[in-house]
Amino acid sequence: MVSGYSQRDLQGHKSSSSAEGLPGIRHIIAIGSGKGGVGKSTVAVNLALALNGIGSRVGLVDADILGPSIPGMLGLATGEPPQATKDGMIIPSKCYGLQVVSMGLLTGDDAPAVLRGPMVSKYLQMFIGSVQWQPLDYLILDLPPGTGDTQLTLAQSFPLSGVVIVTTPQNVSLKIARRGLRMFEMLQVPILGIIENMSTFTCPHCGNATDVFRRGGGESMSRELGVPFLGAIPLDADIVTSSDNGHPIIIDQPNTVAAHAYLAIAKELVSEFEELKGVTLRPFMWNWKTNEGKTAWVESAIHAGGSPTTPIGFRNLDGSTLSVLWEDGKQDDFDVRNLRLACRCALCIEEMSGRPLLDPNSVLINVAPRMISSVGNYAIRINWNDGHSSGIYSFTHLRAMGDAANQHTT
Ligand code: ADP
Repeated sequence: MVSGYSQRDLQGHKSSSSAEGLPGIRHIIAIGSGKGGVGKSTVAVNLALALNGIGSRVGLVDADILGPSIPGMLGLATGEPPQATKDGMIIPSKCYGLQVVSMGLLTGDDAPAVLRGPMVSKYLQMFIGSVQWQPLDYLILDLPPGTGDTQLTLAQSFPLSGVVIVTTPQNVSLKIARRGLRMFEMLQVPILGIIENMSTFTCPHCGNATDVFRRGGGESMSRELGVPFLGAIPLDADIVTSSDNGHPIIIDQPNTVAAHAYLAIAKELVSEFEELKGVTLRPFMWNWKTNEGKTAWVESAIHAGGSPTTPIGFRNLDGSTLSVLWEDGKQDDFDVRNLRLACRCALCIEEMSGRPLLDPNSVLINVAPRMISSVGNYAIRINWNDGHSSGIYSFTHLRAMGDAANQHTT
């Protein structure tokens, strides 16, 4: 269970990985966090502006329907209904080159809308689906904090290209972000990466660096979960003042360390999407027994200096061994029962402590995959013949397992 939803609730609704459903929008990216106050909206605004600054066409949706803050950060007038076309499509506001819609434009910043869950979902669908967007490379959705209804609605209703998780470096925030991340994984929304916000503080007077909320937590969580680390934004009082004044720091003070950090993250994201274009393996859903939907085995993609965590082939070697071919030419052969035992999902490993919950003796000797499917560009999901299906195996995790097994045998 993740935040009150059963596995079945979540699995009935899958998101696809491209924005085919919304013509004219190439990628929809959600910005989420486990809890409020970590700077998620600030990141959403500055990241949208940074993407725009490097030449992308960008839209921004304040999906935090109950607590919209984006109009304030962009200095947009609130309380006036947005314009609409004759056929009822909302015309987004234009601001610093962005196309923006927010509930705050309807209600004013100080008057959070009182809406019940189904209405929130309805508004969200309207916001995203009934807006007359000009063609967009990226539509950024600033989600409300947490892993509740809104996140579920979005992931189920719109073809998200992926989600970016914002966290502060300290433990409590990381634990919560990890939970959010798991929810998106279960919904099969690719995790584009983690941003650590309010990282090191550099004193503007003496130049000394202090890690107010510790440091490196986001990066180590990325490593642990096998998802990209997109970068760290420093703790900076100018971020607060510029947001409060309606002139985000990336516009107001583009030469600061913070503005450069947002820009670097935007470039990192764009390059992730560029890399995706060159991905050799297409998304797959492969029946282990019948081989239906089998994915390719592209030996021609092997090259010196190739990525050790980019798979270019998967195959069923002998009914109980999954072979993975990596771009750098290495091949790892995994006994499928060992893979089942290595599952890191919340049912097999205790979320907070990392304590194993799965009793190896309870796993069938002849346990085998039923289906193996790709999850975004970073993992596979295995649906097992013992009914277990919540495990995601990131490529980083698989490669590390393969390397560890090799060390053992040499
Ligand atoms: P969330 O969307 O997660 O609730 P906000 O983006 O509204 O968080 O930010 C919460 C507060 O933290 C705001 O006052 C904002 O200006 C401030 N803030 C965000 N990022 C930083 C940062 N890197 N350094 C200092 N203050 C920040």
